[in-house]
Amino acid sequence: MTMETLEFQAEARQLLQLMVHSIYSNKDIFLRELISNASDALDKLRLAKLQDGLEADTSDLHIEIESDAEARTLTVRDNGIGMTREEVVELIGTIAKSGTAELLTKLKEAKESPELIGQFGVGFYSTFMVADKVTLVTRKAGTEGHGTRWESEGAGTYTIDDAQDAPVGTTVTLHLRPKDEDDALFDYADEWKIKEIVKRYSDFISFPIRKGDEVLNSQKALWARPRSEVTDEEYHQFYRHISHDWTDPLEIINMKAEGTFEYEALLFIPSRAPHDLFQRDARRGLQLYVKRVFIMDDSKELIPDYLRFVKGVVDAADLSLNISREILQQDRHIQMIRRRLVKKVLSTIKDMMTANPEKYATFWREFGRAVKEGLLAEPDNHKPILEIASFATTNGSEPTTLAAYVERMKEGQEEIYYLTGESRSQVENSPHMEAFAAEGYEVLILTDPVDEIWVDAVPEFDGKKLRSIARGAVDLKKDEEEKKPEGDFAPLLGFLKEKLDEQVKEVRLSHRLTTSAACLVSDADDVTPALEKMYRAMGQ
Ligand code: ADP
Ligand code: MG
Repeated sequence: MTMETLEFQAEARQLLQLMVHSIYSNKDIFLRELISNASDALDKLRLAKLQDGLEADTSDLHIEIESDAEARTLTVRDNGIGMTREEVVELIGTIAKSGTAELLTKLKEAKESPELIGQFGVGFYSTFMVADKVTLVTRKAGTEGHGTRWESEGAGTYTIDDAQDAPVGTTVTLHLRPKDEDDALFDYADEWKIKEIVKRYSDFISFPIRKGDEVLNSQKALWARPRSEVTDEEYHQFYRHISHDWTDPLEIINMKAEGTFEYEALLFIPSRAPHDLFQRDARRGLQLYVKRVFIMDDSKELIPDYLRFVKGVVDAADLSLNISREILQQDRHIQMIRRRLVKKVLSTIKDMMTANPEKYATFWREFGRAVKEGLLAEPDNHKPILEIASFATTNGSEPTTLAAYVERMKEGQEEIYYLTGESRSQVENSPHMEAFAAEGYEVLILTDPVDEIWVDAVPEFDGKKLRSIARGAVDLKKDEEEKKPEGDFAPLLGFLKEKLDEQVKEVRLSHRLTTSAACLVSDADDVTPALEKMYRAMGQ
């Protein structure tokens, strides 16, 4: 095939525009992104050989950096999997990630916003922050003949052409922008600058990163090193490598199990929910390694859905390197690891509640809605999940834990009262609330859609039933309630019953109201009005 000039897809063009105008304040990260891609490509080649029997030489997998201060070029080369011409067009010319368009709009509104942009992992395009031309030459492992050459100045188009004699792997060459006055302190072609960036951002990369005869990184797997020997900064860089998140994680969790089934895990709880936390097609799951060899990304079997925001690595010693996703699903060791990880994550959060309440508050604000799904998914874990949950309450503006609620319960109160609804104000102004407020009973205010469902799945907390104040005869002066003589009201009640025959089961006098004249309640085992509405919306 001959040379073609192609246009970037619209979203890719927009993102490039942002890069050219450098909205990141820290341009150094372009090198981290290139090394990260090279490392992924090396992992993929090793895996293709292991699992698909691809014939390839994997005896010297490495990353090489070259710089030429005079020509003002910087080159990153790997001997990994490489790309076909079609793959280059598809992977480099477009942004396939979901939610990108939406994020771009937000980005334009927010302008200088590293937090937002950190959510995409802009990857390869970040090179255009420091380069005015980028050339990529690549050949896919296992293909015969020529490779592919891609080149762009980061504007609307790129060229793509055959490249004779390209070795297997990928070489990316940046033609550095002219030094500008402000940045005159260093140049990206400077030897010391390159070393500094590699050490800071990519030290843990498991393949050697060479410059000349020197290896720039220690290659130590972070999860295998004792916590005391690793700096927070190193953990944070590793977190960025695997998560594409710009912000630092909220919590770092190390685990190590020895004995019959050995594994190590390094988990991170992010400090912010990703924009796609509630999207079905979002990436989730942990990275799986076997004895330091990368096996797969996004391994959903290692962590349940309700903890899908947890990022990290599990390195298991006794699995086969050939393990497939199908086998993973049934593997009992994997199931055991998963149970342990869940336990550890939940207990870490519980500790956080006392050790660092502010951190916990951030955690719950960002991820509580997802965590509550666990009350439906894992009946065995009701207790530890409820223990780390908190809820809005009529007792002040801060959320409360159930334990704190129980401690405040009034003399003689046996149940935990709650009311579900669409918003705090709607719940607070509900007629159901009147008598409870008047008598000084605390009521939990549950306004997330998932709240409607889990409350039915959870029988109790600490021996106290959870009780909706919208259902049945939860009346504060119980004994009198049912027996209250209709007296003078009998004709009125009779009249209402007749008029509303189609709509209601019963009309009765109640103590639950103080200022409203009437309210609707359901029977204890009926669905709540809000749930009824939800079912209707789902077409059931
Ligand atoms: P991400 O790494 O988050 O997928 P990037 O923009 O960094 O996004 O890269 C886009 C895609 O291009 C990668 O997913 C990969 O498929 C391909 N790619 C980039 N660099 C290389 C490389 N050195 N070798 C092979 N493929 C690469
Ligand atoms: Mg990348």
